[in-house]
Amino acid sequence: MNIVIGHLYPDLLNLYGDRGNIQCLLKRCQWRGIEAEAIAYELGDSIDFDKLDIVLLGGGSDREQMLVCEKLRQIQPAFKRYVEEGGVVIAICGGYQLLGNSYKTAQGTIEGLGLVDMETEQGEDRLIGNIILESPLFTMPVVGFENHGGRTCIHENQPLGKVLYGFGNDKTSGCEGIIYKNVIGTYLHGPLLPKNPQLADELLLRALKKKYGTDRLSPLDDAWEEEANAYIVQRFIGKKA
Ligand code: GLN
Repeated sequence: MNIVIGHLYPDLLNLYGDRGNIQCLLKRCQWRGIEAEAIAYELGDSIDFDKLDIVLLGGGSDREQMLVCEKLRQIQPAFKRYVEEGGVVIAICGGYQLLGNSYKTAQGTIEGLGLVDMETEQGEDRLIGNIILESPLFTMPVVGFENHGGRTCIHENQPLGKVLYGFGNDKTSGCEGIIYKNVIGTYLHGPLLPKNPQLADELLLRALKKKYGTDRLSPLDDAWEEEANAYIVQRFIGKKA
């Protein structure tokens, strides 16, 4: 078994070290004896989506999003086909916003990939801080950190989770992120996957299922990750979620 992870434009979309999430996926494969490799694409590179099993789009500032949006328009048809055929995507913050139709800022509107029906609009203040979600996909709460000016409306799409602490998609709906086919979008930055091993495994399982029909992953010892996750929940909510 072999998993290929495509990292789109880490030179521009890598706020808070979002690329560390790829290390987490590679390591969890290696621990299970599954071969895995990552390919980083720069703006000028052509991307063969047929080769990829997981695509990661990280976060970026409005300026960087503006720069990649040109390029995204060129790869949109191939990326759309990948998504519609069940390709796995994890998109974070600025990358999450770019999955949608548009991101309206004071400087102008950034055209998104239109892979998922959602829109983002810049708000007056930035939504910054720790965040905790309850997601129907996982038994453990999803914990992380958010820092975004954009408010995202996901219409009737399924959110990644319900906000237990923090702001989420738009500060008011109580929802965070999106799940569309095998695409997961979220505002949770930085070490999202090391902090949430169930989310890391969800991505791996979906990719292996599509490629090899795998229906379960061998369990790993996540005692440290579980302890760290529980500490965050205890610190911000004061009880087990
Ligand atoms: N520029 C976007 C915003 O502020 C995304 C920022 C980010 O990726 N942290 O909403």
